[in-house]
Amino acid sequence: MNPALSMNRKYLGRKSGVKKRIAILGSTGSIGVNALDVLSRLRAEFEVIGLSCGSNIELLARQAHKFHPKVVCVGDERLTGKIKKALPSGTVIVTGADGLKEIASRDDLDLLLLAIAGTASLTPLVEAVKNKIRIALANKEALVSAGPIVMELATKNKTEIIPVDSEHSAIFQCIEGAGREFISKIYLTGSGGPLLNISAKKFNSLTKRDILRHPKWKMGEKITVDSATMMNKGLEIIEAKYLFDIDEDRIEVLVHPEAVIHSMVEFVDGAILAQLAVPDMRIPIQYALTYPARQAGDSATVDFSRMNKLSFQRPDTGKFPCLELARIALRLGGTAPAVLCAADEEAVRNYLDGKIKFFEIPEVIAKVLSRHKNLKGKRVSLGDVLAAAGWAKEEARSICCH
Ligand code: NDP
Ligand code: MG
Repeated sequence: MNPALSMNRKYLGRKSGVKKRIAILGSTGSIGVNALDVLSRLRAEFEVIGLSCGSNIELLARQAHKFHPKVVCVGDERLTGKIKKALPSGTVIVTGADGLKEIASRDDLDLLLLAIAGTASLTPLVEAVKNKIRIALANKEALVSAGPIVMELATKNKTEIIPVDSEHSAIFQCIEGAGREFISKIYLTGSGGPLLNISAKKFNSLTKRDILRHPKWKMGEKITVDSATMMNKGLEIIEAKYLFDIDEDRIEVLVHPEAVIHSMVEFVDGAILAQLAVPDMRIPIQYALTYPARQAGDSATVDFSRMNKLSFQRPDTGKFPCLELARIALRLGGTAPAVLCAADEEAVRNYLDGKIKFFEIPEVIAKVLSRHKNLKGKRVSLGDVLAAAGWAKEEARSICCH
């Protein structure tokens, strides 16, 4: 069970006047930039200790001049020399996967926001959990790939994992303080993505621009393609199962195009709690940073008088096979979710690079899953997960190139 759901919620505020020390891994991405926007309003409360990018050193340098972190991590080691000249004096540079690990194990951190896209987040996530650093978790791929390992470690170390993903933040807020035994069902809502009203027959004629034009959220490219295939919702089913320890068949996906209800929880007595807000990621990001306190924000609020309907429908699993692929991987367990996630990551990259067509993404994932030899009856280790993910990427790459 996620220690963040226990009844004694821990205020990170410590003594008044003492700032909470935070690092953001993936600060140059969509979540990272929104988080720094939130932090620029909460400067009296937070001290930024660390930031990181993959290769966007120009933006990282600008962020460093504004927030004066002690350390920055650059994914691409070849860029170290270049960024050195652009950083404020006193900021240390670390690089690559080791650098991320180093930041995630610092003993001067109260909070780590994990906002790197993809499975590169897995090692820093495990490191932070082991080091008992509270985690604001935006990245979903790491938890999907190694959920049981991460949650077991979190329980053992009493490390709180606060979800940032808007649906999981909503669920988290709805069940705060309630016993798990009182939850009967989770309604995971989703806008339906850019292809909700486009027939599958037309998928082939869509350009990358059409796919990347999400109607409600402005996000990184990988998650936007995942929203179009609905793999994003599939990954979120798995994320919810691990974060909230709830059976897969009690997680129902609902398409809700208005994207105002971010998810709902039904309790055993039939009562349902929902969390509503305008679709603005700064709201769940800020809540994960200030939890369990709340702070004033500058996002718009929901104007019910202008809203003429809130609609819901079941997802079309024939049109979006990724939803069922995710459920299959979750039910298979073992290393299957890691394989699903890695195959998806590789298929999406190949799609973005123009090597495969949009409709081929689920086909590649299904093929890789069907070729996967799962570890039956064996306790899965982090090494097994990393090996399975590596194999799945290789397999997906070879399918995409043929
Ligand atoms: P982006 O693609 O916008 O940003 C990704 C960040 O990770 C960037 O800082 C990027 O650096 C860095 N990065 C990417 N690959 C590596 C790597 N191999 N090593 C080190 N750093 C790397 O992604 P998003 O912000 O959209 O998403 C981040 C995570 O949050 C994803 O897991 C996504 O599923 C999840 N999420 C995002 C939401 C959103 O609204 N965007 C909503 C809910 C969840 P650089 O800029 O240099 O490339
Ligand atoms: Mg989401």
